[in-house]
Amino acid sequence: THEFSVSNQNPIHGKMGRVPVGIGRRRMRIVVTGGAGFVGSHLVDKLIGRGDEVIVIDNFFTGRKENVVHLFGNPRFELIRHDVVEPILLEVDQIYHLACPASPVHYKYNPVKTIKTNVMGTLNMLGLAKRVGARFLLTSTSEVYGDPLQHPQKETYWGNVNPIGERSCYDEGKRTAETLTMDYHRGDGVEVRIARIFNTYGPRMCLDDGRVVSNFVAQAIRKQPMTVYGDGKQTRSFQYVSDLVDGLVALMEGEHIGPFNLGNPGEFTMLELAEVVKDTIDPSATIEYKPNTADDPHMRKPDISKAKELLNWEPKIPLREGLPLMVNDFRNRILNEDEGKGA
Ligand code: NAD
Ligand code: UDP
Ligand code: UDP
Repeated sequence: THEFSVSNQNPIHGKMGRVPVGIGRRRMRIVVTGGAGFVGSHLVDKLIGRGDEVIVIDNFFTGRKENVVHLFGNPRFELIRHDVVEPILLEVDQIYHLACPASPVHYKYNPVKTIKTNVMGTLNMLGLAKRVGARFLLTSTSEVYGDPLQHPQKETYWGNVNPIGERSCYDEGKRTAETLTMDYHRGDGVEVRIARIFNTYGPRMCLDDGRVVSNFVAQAIRKQPMTVYGDGKQTRSFQYVSDLVDGLVALMEGEHIGPFNLGNPGEFTMLELAEVVKDTIDPSATIEYKPNTADDPHMRKPDISKAKELLNWEPKIPLREGLPLMVNDFRNRILNEDEGKGA
């Protein structure tokens, strides 16, 4: 397949004398920062599944051991409790840098820490990439476009971001992380990749992380009203996690730096999303209106023509197919929670 035929130009491969995996490709050692989180843990599953060695670095702020517990005991898997704000020495071929809280509730909890994670954390991982000659991939975000004045958003759009608002620790943090990434590339020749990820959902999302899909799904399962913020007419585009993971790997293995939008162009208002959740989980589910949060982007939808053309990637799973795939996981975890409380 695509992944197995690509040979990394990175000289470290030879030095590390990796054992061949399949035909034409050596086993790599790959760091995934934030690998105990929602997206990271699915990425780790894919990398382990294709035969590579994976080191997860995570401080467990929003990540959970349960997300990777099935890999404990696998000799190709290693988990390090570490905060990326502190330097670390490792010998690796590739770095997928995901460490950063992603949900507004979590990134606003300690905004200065969010900035440190984005700036110092990214700096450390780039310093590491530079020292060992590893390829570095940054998971940036559609939030770099702010409350966009261009719709749908292309990678060439520079964004409309409030630098002093409540979301700034996250979106300006990620913008700085992109800048650092490009400066290490231009200045130090580090091989880099930048993904701008749009709203993603799936199993293992934190139950109470405040994001709209996890909120609505958990609320519908618990027979609570779904909380629609504002008038519910704002739009988002929702990508299933396996599509994102395929895109991240295609980007890392490909020849292009990016930035690339990785998202599903299907666009929904929050009221339409509530309808889909209702149809999927409980036809009697109700909604309840709540005030919206500050600086909430009015609409968001990726233009993914660049990723289609250059990475040969596009999402495969529409919302109505993806939602049912996370419902069992959510049901089981909510059930366990209830049993925990009852005991
Ligand atoms: P998540 O919160 O589930 O995962 C983030 C992980 O990073 C967690 O395991 C957390 O414990 C870890 N982490 C946070 N700060 C850290 C630190 N200082 N040191 C070490 N580990 C730290 O979020 P996610 O949805 O899996 O997001 C992963 C990445 O993708 C993030 O960088 C996020 O900004 C980006 N992203 C996600 C989405 C989305 O919709 N899920 C959208 C855009 C961008
Ligand atoms: N760094 C790291 N691991 C390494 C190499 C560097 O954590 O293997 C950190 C290092 O401590 C520094 C950052 O990455 O804080 C940037 O490193 P770089 O060498 O680019 O800059 P300098 O150390 O010269 O400031
Ligand atoms: N939202 C909502 N109800 C919720 C949580 C969020 O209506 O329970 C709205 C929120 O105001 C925003 C959209 O859903 O307009 C997406 O929010 P989320 O936090 O999931 O992602 P982001 O704002 O980062 O795109």
